[in-house]
Amino acid sequence: MSNKWTTSTAALARHLAKNTHIIARHPHASQLHTYITQLIHTIEHTINRPPPPRFCGQCDTTTPTGHLCGHALYAPREHTETTCPHCHTTHHIDQLYQRTLDAAEHLAFTRETLIGNQRTHDAELYSEGLMGELDEFVHWQAFNRWVRERKLLPAMWLQPNGQHTHTPSPGARPEYRLGDLRYLRRTTKHQNDKTTSL
Ligand SMILES: [Zn+2]
Repeated sequence: MSNKWTTSTAALARHLAKNTHIIARHPHASQLHTYITQLIHTIEHTINRPPPPRFCGQCDTTTPTGHLCGHALYAPREHTETTCPHCHTTHHIDQLYQRTLDAAEHLAFTRETLIGNQRTHDAELYSEGLMGELDEFVHWQAFNRWVRERKLLPAMWLQPNGQHTHTPSPGARPEYRLGDLRYLRRTTKHQNDKTTSL
């Protein structure tokens, strides 16, 4: 669909660049400058997104009532300490992360929690799950193959009512142990590369 009145962004940019002397004399030049500066800022911000905050682990402070705080903590990547907004305990991030990991090894999670949705057609919705957070990406095709070959077996089942059980039932979703998946990833070849087709 083209007609002489439509123009591409690139053509418009070239036109503006060639006519700066005319634009400078325009009564609305300063507003135009402000608008373009804002536009450039928006584009740069979209392209150079700030890195997402780092997952630091789950707050493992025991509250005065004897319960585990359990708040999931996130902090900018350059931080070494973070304070839980819930119980106000300050944690050393590396140590908390390691404790969370040790505790989570034996826990079972659904496929989506473990490896994310890996939807490539919508960058906003894309996620790599816990394994992505651990910097241990697992491609969904590798995951499916391990399940198919019964190398990865369900440890628990998530019932539609949110309960976790040891036996399957209609509508229940399988949950796999994080430690089992990490072990398979460490010991199986060709799954570390995101571009590898399996
Ligand atoms: Zn806390």
